[in-house]
Formats: sequence, C-alpha cells, structure tokens
Amino acid sequence: CGIVAYVGPRDAAPILLEGLQRLEYRGYDSAGVVVSNRGLKVRKVKGRVADLAKVVPARFKGTLGIGHTRWATHGVPSDENAHPHLSADERIAVVHNGIIENAGELRAKLEADGVVFASETDTEVLAHLIARAADENDSLEEAVRKTLKSIVGTYGIAVIDRERPGEVVVARNGSPIVLGIGEKEMFAASDVAALVRYTRQVVHLEDGELAVLKADGFHTFASDARETAKEPLTVDWDA
Ligand code: GLU
Repeated sequence: CGIVAYVGPRDAAPILLEGLQRLEYRGYDSAGVVVSNRGLKVRKVKGRVADLAKVVPARFKGTLGIGHTRWATHGVPSDENAHPHLSADERIAVVHNGIIENAGELRAKLEADGVVFASETDTEVLAHLIARAADENDSLEEAVRKTLKSIVGTYGIAVIDRERPGEVVVARNGSPIVLGIGEKEMFAASDVAALVRYTRQVVHLEDGELAVLKADGFHTFASDARETAKEPLTVDWDA
C-alpha cells in the first residue's frame, strides 16, 4: 500500500516512520521497517504505524532503510506477512505494493529447490529471487532487473542489500514510485506526501523504470537497462 525509502547521513528509522505516518490516509493493516547497519535489522507488526514505532528501539541505528504499510492481498494481515520480506540468508530486504500474479508458480519452484518461506505473501518470492540473482550479478540493480523479468503483475518496490549498505534500488510497474532529492541524501516513496517534509525536488518514475539511489544522487534506467535522463520537478505543497 505505501512505501518509503531513505539513504543519507541521518538515521533512517525516524524518517521512515514519519513518512509512513503521512501515508496512513491510504488505509493499511500492517507496517514495517528495515535498516542496514552491519546486517539488516527488521521490525514489523500487524497494526498501526504507532504500534510499529513502539517496537522500534531508540538504538535502531542505520542510515539506510526502507519502510512499508501493507494492504493485504495474498496472506492474512499478520506480523509474519507484514513487509519488509527478507531472503533466507537475510541478505536482501524488499517492500512491495501491488500483486505478483505468478507468485504461486515461482514459490513452488523455489520450494522445490529447498527455499523455506517465512510468509504467505506473493511478495516474498521477490526477496528470494533477488538474493539468488545478487549472488550471480555484479550489481543489485542488475539482480533486481533480472528478477523483475520473471515477474507477472504489478509492483512498486524498494530493495536493499546487506552487502551494499549505501544504496537502495526502486522500480515500478503499475504502482507509483517518486524519488525525493535532498542535500547529500535521497528519498523514495509511493506518494509525495511522505517526502514533502524533507524535500520539494522530486522525480516520478514511469512504468518499467528502475532507479538506484545513493546519498549523493540517483540514476534511472529504462527496462532495457539504458540510463534515462529525468528532470526534477519542484512540488508546491502546503505541508
Ligand atoms: N500483495 C502484497 C501483499 O499482500 C502487497 C500488498 C500491498 O500493496 O500493500 O503483501
């Protein structure tokens, strides 16, 4: 339902929680965050963003992270089915809006290969597939791109990799993703409402586009991996 991502010099968790709160008007049944700090640290709960904030400890440090509010489509609302979803080796974390239509088939293949799932969601296949691709590819961007080629359905996603603690990859097909450009920090969200407290400079992704965010800037790519040139827009908003 809602996505927020951050990379920069500040602690990510308060920014993610604040962003998720700004997306609450969309309705949701669970919420979660993950930050990267010598490993991925996850908190996720069925319930409100305020319930999530209660289980995020003060020393939940990490300057890169992603957050999600879920509107369940595959799997009941529960702590386990809340996003982020992690790969079995806890290397990759994913948040997702939308529906993976061929998740059943992909899950059956992964399970036949020995992968143990931690949730009932359609989303979790993405975490396992990206982790496998990340083992075989030089960049997270390439691992995400390869995985998305095997997916049928709609998505806005944000992905982080324990082995690449300075970057977030986002992509969209049918679910909005907007990038927010800050001073030596980058944001992304499913809706500008989550970003306007931090920046007015935004870039909207098109369907099929993927973006790599680092503290010092971003790159966007079309589905054929060619880099696209995007002019930031200035949003006018009474926050
Ligand atoms: N289909 C996913 C799920 O049920 C994502 C739902 C959403 O967009 O929040 O977990």
